[in-house]
Amino acid sequence: MNLKFSHAGIDFEGISEGGIRTSIAIPRYSLLFDIGAIQHEKIHLENVLVTHGHLDHAAGIPYYISQRSLQKLKPPNIYVNEDMYENTKKIIELYSEIEGFAYNYNLISTPTNKEFALSPNTFFKAHKTTHRIPSQGYTIFEKVKKLLPEFADLKGSEIVELKAKGETLTEDKETPLVSFSGDTQIEYILDHKEVRESKILFLECTYVDSDRNVERARAWGHTHLDEIIAHAKEFNNEKIVLIHFSKRYKHSFIKDIVRKKTPDILKGRIHCFLP
Ligand SMILES: [Zn+2]
Ligand SMILES: [Zn+2]
Repeated sequence: MNLKFSHAGIDFEGISEGGIRTSIAIPRYSLLFDIGAIQHEKIHLENVLVTHGHLDHAAGIPYYISQRSLQKLKPPNIYVNEDMYENTKKIIELYSEIEGFAYNYNLISTPTNKEFALSPNTFFKAHKTTHRIPSQGYTIFEKVKKLLPEFADLKGSEIVELKAKGETLTEDKETPLVSFSGDTQIEYILDHKEVRESKILFLECTYVDSDRNVERARAWGHTHLDEIIAHAKEFNNEKIVLIHFSKRYKHSFIKDIVRKKTPDILKGRIHCFLP
């Protein structure tokens, strides 16, 4: 049932169905984007980045904590937006009471634009999204040492020599690797350069046809395929993976319409996260 996608050495695995369930794992960073589906075989991953409180994105939080507590795994880090923090905490504590044992977890209120470390050279930031309730997307960054431009033409041996003399040859560059939109209107893309520059973008595309048009998609806080196409030039991502399609469409219909509407500039870069 789980689907897979890989690019630039990063593997993704999970499921996303609009209004039903969304949860995408990245084992490399030990994290799940959203937990609206229970991926029991991914319970060992230690971080969950929750975009918003709709249950198709958040229903698995207590179950995940409960399972990890029973298995005596390390307390996981669950990142939620500031607005849903208090109520989420209450729900978790109520379930702990119902189940009759202590839950071990870190629930983290996650303001936008603040850096949270995943590893020594990886961190993530939340960016505001526009939905019907408070929501945010996430971008994972990698810090890499880049040779300063003035040394770019040197030979390997010359670089080694300068390094030995204690010269500073590199600077830290932050590269946005992966962005995940959760549910949002197109503004999430248009307002955040880091999202448009991410190597890989997981982007919601709930509606694709004229029965559910742009206006209606916007009224429900979602993105329509036509808006992605209309703003095709804005996307600098190597790969754009479309998720969260409405269940009203057949998979073959979605793939067909996406293929037909994709302009040349996005050809080979857009993928539907479908079987
Ligand atoms: Zn949703
Ligand atoms: Zn939602």
